[in-house]
Amino acid sequence: MTFATLAHFFQKLEQTPSRNTMTEILADLFRHAGKEEIGKICYLLQGRVVPLYEAVEFGVADKFMIRAIAQAYGVEQKDVVRAFKKAGDLGAAAEKCYHVLEHRNNSRLTVADVYERLYALAQSTGEGSQERKITILADVFKSVDSLSARYIARIPLHKLRLGFSDMTMLDGLSWMLTGDKSLRVKLEEVYNVRPDIGFIAEAVKEHGTKGLAHVKAKVGAPILASLCQRLPNADEMIKKMGTVSVEGKYDGVRVQIHFQTVRQKDGKTIRVQSFSRNLENTTEMFPELQNIGKQLHASEAILDSEAVGMDPKTGKLIPFQETMTRKRKHDIEKTRGNVPLKFFVFDILYKNGKDLLGEPLSKRREILEQTVKMGKALVISPQIVTDHASEVRIFHDEQIKKGLEGAVVKKWDSAYEPGRRGYSWVKFKEEEGKTGKLTDTIDAVVMGYYRGEGKRSGFGIGAFLVGVKKGEDFVTVTKIGTGVSDELWKELKKRLNALKVNEKPKEYAEVHKNFIPDVWVSPKLVVEIAGDDLTRSPTHGAGIAVRFPRLVRIRDDKSPKDATTVSEVQQMYAQQGGK
Ligand code: ATP
Repeated sequence: MTFATLAHFFQKLEQTPSRNTMTEILADLFRHAGKEEIGKICYLLQGRVVPLYEAVEFGVADKFMIRAIAQAYGVEQKDVVRAFKKAGDLGAAAEKCYHVLEHRNNSRLTVADVYERLYALAQSTGEGSQERKITILADVFKSVDSLSARYIARIPLHKLRLGFSDMTMLDGLSWMLTGDKSLRVKLEEVYNVRPDIGFIAEAVKEHGTKGLAHVKAKVGAPILASLCQRLPNADEMIKKMGTVSVEGKYDGVRVQIHFQTVRQKDGKTIRVQSFSRNLENTTEMFPELQNIGKQLHASEAILDSEAVGMDPKTGKLIPFQETMTRKRKHDIEKTRGNVPLKFFVFDILYKNGKDLLGEPLSKRREILEQTVKMGKALVISPQIVTDHASEVRIFHDEQIKKGLEGAVVKKWDSAYEPGRRGYSWVKFKEEEGKTGKLTDTIDAVVMGYYRGEGKRSGFGIGAFLVGVKKGEDFVTVTKIGTGVSDELWKELKKRLNALKVNEKPKEYAEVHKNFIPDVWVSPKLVVEIAGDDLTRSPTHGAGIAVRFPRLVRIRDDKSPKDATTVSEVQQMYAQQGGK
């Protein structure tokens, strides 16, 4: 397929607001794609050249793109900047500058050609790489038509914004195979185990539905994290789950650890990688994991854990915020001594070539205990196994006394449920009614912001609008204007300006006129919101609103797809006693 053809598909996708139409366009695109190019097309649709979890970044900023466009079309950089300012988008600017060319390109570059160049762009690092990147981009721009230039400019800037996520792509694959969405559930199941759309697309393109059996867990590809449901109290938990394992709920960061022994010519070495719950490769952030070989009896293993900072003097666990300072890449070495990390390992998902996801927790725990030797970095999360609500309560209260967030209660005979918030795991933070307040926080996506008035006009932001997930879209649930420190306002403004868009994003279906913000932003930033309680709302798209909302923190470890859903909010409303 030529890239020009793909660009037409991009355009059709960009122009439609309807998710069903997008699905059909994607299916049509996938049907047209050859089996050797469908994977590459999937990554390009995601604005990438590799799956999300591979740490390959383009490293291209606006100013470099401006230089590349100017170089390609022989125009002044200020002309590109002018076009950029006018359209608010460098894709449109590239298209505009293309028209300055005397002879039009009759582009025959294939998808694979463009993919390879973009891949080379991402691989180009080190000294002189910026110049090399500009040359690569300028060469591509010179060899493609104007519509292709529009999308090629947007990809490395992460501004493709076609308005759909991986789930719509799975619908598209289902539609390609069956003419409807009936395979979506099966596709999603394999995606949860191996979230690599390109790989899945290649497998089903080549083998049809049977290809799904080729998609298996593998060390180096993160498995989607199992998540917790909510139940109001310990009695309900035992009623619903029977025998349970109860563990502390550590206030840290979820880390999936992938361990592998690699045979090399000069002997064996180990390879350790780690992934966050939103599938980012976090290996560089946790250097202490590189020494875990001594603690593991396995040649390969995937472990699920929560990393928590520990005060070296008192031995006490340190809360989330401080642990997160470790995440700031540049501080890693500096903070290493100050905040040693402990990885509380609570599950094993894979060992020595065998996928353990279908095994009951009781069995996985046995294997975990045989595999992990307690030591400096890895600690097996302590647990009790019980079918008595009173014991669950006592254990929970002990965790709260120790400064933990509460407990996680897990069904003892349940399989690991990748990517699911099912009743196999339930979080137990606070018993209903103890404080009369919302017992859990909501992870919401920032949809836009309002310029400040009065005191806050100096910040240029005085309130922001947040939403929860409804299918693949987001609906509003509250507007937040208080309880945010000056420092956080400044940070929010900076981060939201980087996500600013001229029009309401397609994913924001229903926004009531009372809440139209001054500035719309792409759905990227997740924030954790606390509130006094939930009330019914005729104006908020969720049908429910958070009363007296407060910003708890920015959740960089979560993607918009991990945001709280409308049905969870409704469930929280019902548990709070609402009808
Ligand atoms: P919260 O917002 O309350 O931190 P969450 O929204 O991040 O929770 P939940 O699904 O509600 O996610 O809770 C599961 C999270 O709890 C996991 O992602 C993990 O990071 C954390 N956690 C802490 N201790 C444990 C444990 N023992 N077992 C499983 N998860 C744990």
